[in-house]
Amino acid sequence: MNSFRTRLTVIMVAMVGISVLAAGLFMAKTYKDNHIDALQDNMIREMNIILRQMEWPQGEPEQLYDYYTAQAKELKQVTDARVTFVSGSGMVLGDSDHDPRTMDNHASRKEVEEASREGIGRTIRYSDTLGENLLYVTKKVNPADPQSAYIRLALSLKTVDSSMWHIWTVLGIGLLLLFAAAAAVSYRLARSLTRPLEQITGVAKRIQNLDYHTRVEVRKQDEIGELGQAINAMADSLQVQMERIHQNENQLESVLDNMINGIVMIDRSGQVVLLNRFAEEVLGITAQKLVGRHYSEAKQQYELSQIIQDGLERKEHLREEITFYFPEERLLDLNLVPIFEDDQQFGGVLLVLQDVSAIRRLERMRSEFVANVSHELKTPIAAVKGFAETLLGGAVKDEETTRSFLQIIFDESERLNRLIGDILELSKIESRRVPLQFSPVDMYSFTKKTLELLSAEASRKHITLEMNAEPGLYVEADEDRLRQIVMNLLGNGINYTPEGGKVSIKVGPAGTHGSDGDYDFVRLTISDTGIGIPKKDLPRIFERFYRVDKARSRGSGGTGLGLSIVKHLVELHNGTIAVESEVGVGSTFIIELPVLQ
Ligand code: ADP
Repeated sequence: MNSFRTRLTVIMVAMVGISVLAAGLFMAKTYKDNHIDALQDNMIREMNIILRQMEWPQGEPEQLYDYYTAQAKELKQVTDARVTFVSGSGMVLGDSDHDPRTMDNHASRKEVEEASREGIGRTIRYSDTLGENLLYVTKKVNPADPQSAYIRLALSLKTVDSSMWHIWTVLGIGLLLLFAAAAAVSYRLARSLTRPLEQITGVAKRIQNLDYHTRVEVRKQDEIGELGQAINAMADSLQVQMERIHQNENQLESVLDNMINGIVMIDRSGQVVLLNRFAEEVLGITAQKLVGRHYSEAKQQYELSQIIQDGLERKEHLREEITFYFPEERLLDLNLVPIFEDDQQFGGVLLVLQDVSAIRRLERMRSEFVANVSHELKTPIAAVKGFAETLLGGAVKDEETTRSFLQIIFDESERLNRLIGDILELSKIESRRVPLQFSPVDMYSFTKKTLELLSAEASRKHITLEMNAEPGLYVEADEDRLRQIVMNLLGNGINYTPEGGKVSIKVGPAGTHGSDGDYDFVRLTISDTGIGIPKKDLPRIFERFYRVDKARSRGSGGTGLGLSIVKHLVELHNGTIAVESEVGVGSTFIIELPVLQ
């Protein structure tokens, strides 16, 4: 761009220089010509006057030399020019400055030759003797006579030359100044022409470097201005499009990153093109490390590499369930879908990873539950059926045995009833079919009433019930459900505590803060002095049908569902339940419920 500006400047300066120089030369030449012409006219006029007044004697040259020389010298005084008289044959008759006798023939002198032809002759010649230019003007004395003599005036051009020199000096200085001015103007002009172009080029370069905010500053409505506007319009549309692309990209990215499935895109050469967040988590490698590399670099399980390789070779939908052990154990459902581009060309594969561990675990739990339920139901039914068959078979004659058999049938059907009741209850709570009815519960009177309901059973087993509740404590809860929780835990306490033991309930605030003792939770602590729970069983006692000692639980009429129901109900109240126990010493269940739901 700069070289363009320089070239433009040089061309403009050269054009101005050449025209100024040509004008100067022309002016100088005209001036000189005019000046010399005027001098010549003057000299001719002087010669005409001389011709009129002078005598032109003829004769032998020797006699004429003195006369003409004298005349010449005299005339020089008047005209201030060198005067020469030349005969028709070219011989010098008299001269104001030299001795005619020593002078050679002048017939071949240019001005004389010209005068012989045209009457008047002129020439400019450098005189070595004088060291200056001289203007020689010659006139025929009698133009009609071919043998006529000539008169010649010669005038120094010293003044003309010096004034020409002066003119040249002035012209030179002027030219230089003009040159400088022309250069400055040309430079500015070139700059004003090239500057917008430079700016446009700069903007185009910035756009190329992905800066879509840059714009050309359009000052004029000329062609360059239009170019600037066109570039701006292009930048506008690029910016809009880039923003749209960014938006789409962000949307896609957030969709991909928030998907609960892992997505891995692999091109036909086996290079990983895309890896979303879930896939990163499942494969235990970041997109940053894997994208742009071959899938085998993920160093994943052999089965995964195998299915990808299969997919790339077979170009068809493949599906497989694989257990991953790293970074954590998961059961993944892999779906490998081939990608075909617009032109039906195979583009690679899309791997969709779905974590099915939870689903499979749930399925397993469900089938285990069904098996458990069937098993639990089968035992009492088998007992009922067996004893009833024996009775019907008439084998038992003895009334007492019959009675005890019937008692067993009754107890077993009671158990069956309880079991079915608990199962229904649990499934109701689990499926949240019955919404909780929250209302403020006065914990003091609530605890008191609940204990009363169990007092008969406790006294039958000679177990002391103890209550330690702060009055005035309220909690927002579903009172019936809360009673179910407390009854269950107290019932277990009574069940698993030998005669003469003690079961106690303590109710107090928890998470207190502030100066007036505000509390966020109510803590219920239910302890007994019973048989306790072995450490290894503690984490499992809240599971359905889990019993530490099956025979004992059955003996006491337990179903193994009580603590499951309790845990669910506590969770429906947004509370927590914990257990501490020591074998032979007793167990403590601690429940914390939020005061406000
Ligand atoms: P169950 O109907 O058998 O009592 P639960 O779900 O209520 O079923 O309790 C599960 C198991 O936890 C019981 O079988 C018992 O082994 C143990 N357990 C529960 N509460 C106590 C306790 N207070 N003391 C000792 N063991 C207990």
